[in-house]
Amino acid sequence: MFRDLFNRQPNDKPFLISGPCSAETEDQVLDTCQRLAATGKVQALRAGIWKPRTKPGGFEGVGAKGLPWLKKASELTGLPVAVEVATAKHVEDCLHFGVDLLWVGARTTGNPFSVQEIANSLRGVEIPVLVKNPTHAELELWMGAVERLQGVGLKQVGLIHRGFASYGNTDFRNAPMWHLPIEMKRRLPHLPILNDPSHICGRRDTLFAVAQQALNLDFDGTMIESHRDPDNAWSDAKQQITPEVLGQLIHDLVWRHESTDKKEFVTALASLREQINQLDAEVMQLLGRRMGIAEKIGQYKKENDITILQTARWNEVLERSQRQGAQVGLTAGFVEQYLAAVHLESITRQNRVMEE
Ligand code: PEP
Ligand code: MN
Repeated sequence: MFRDLFNRQPNDKPFLISGPCSAETEDQVLDTCQRLAATGKVQALRAGIWKPRTKPGGFEGVGAKGLPWLKKASELTGLPVAVEVATAKHVEDCLHFGVDLLWVGARTTGNPFSVQEIANSLRGVEIPVLVKNPTHAELELWMGAVERLQGVGLKQVGLIHRGFASYGNTDFRNAPMWHLPIEMKRRLPHLPILNDPSHICGRRDTLFAVAQQALNLDFDGTMIESHRDPDNAWSDAKQQITPEVLGQLIHDLVWRHESTDKKEFVTALASLREQINQLDAEVMQLLGRRMGIAEKIGQYKKENDITILQTARWNEVLERSQRQGAQVGLTAGFVEQYLAAVHLESITRQNRVMEE
């Protein structure tokens, strides 16, 4: 049933899971799911049954009574259904009602006790499980959750990138921090990874751009919330779209393949990559030399009892580099981040020299 997700072939379409943030009523679930199926673009349906809320008093999901609604939606559409689980009891209820795919929510991934409880309740069960990234940007927790689930013998484990909580960002509900899912892909190349633009954006107008960016980065598909009456949804109203709007959004996405057989393209790409490899090698050589000089400076400072950190000098380096960077089209932010990393390494080396 999930061949398209777990045994992906080069030309497979993006795998799309969609459905309401929360199951609210039987009618809402059936109506939304049937309209989603009618778009012909959805491979699986989703709905939250138990909703983790930051504070008590909000809508905490309809609970297990919503599971038969999903089963009915599955029978009517022929599509498998996915539900978020956070406890062993949730797992038991889902298995009882024939839920086809489970996912671990962001808040749960951050709690190893809960993930282990879920894993233990799935020992000996064959069911696909997708793991959302934890709410904060800690890759090892995400890895750890995958390991706990694989550790009980689950063969079909995948990832969902739903963005990370971060201070001072206003564009996103959860900042995508693309380098983190990319690093997960690098570490776990055989695990499928979906993008969840709904919880990254928290609003409707930016969903397309985020979904497209994920496909550009070779994600395997998308989990996106859809509600028959988004403005009146009982949870996450601002980010949901109708099944028809979703159908159009998916239709407009450009699906890029990781590789192609076109010879010209393959050769051009190989040549450009070779140039990048060469430049990276040169940059590494230069950085190595730069650090060697920093150590020499450390030696002089030590001999003359001078502090390592010299603010005026550092400002001068920063300003000059930003000017030079701007001339070759590097943004001030990038130059600053790059130099901060170089400076830190430089100071660490000098400190080592001082301590010798
Ligand atoms: C959800 O998918 O409805 C959900 C609660 O998401 P997250 O765990 O990413 O916050
Ligand atoms: Mn939601």
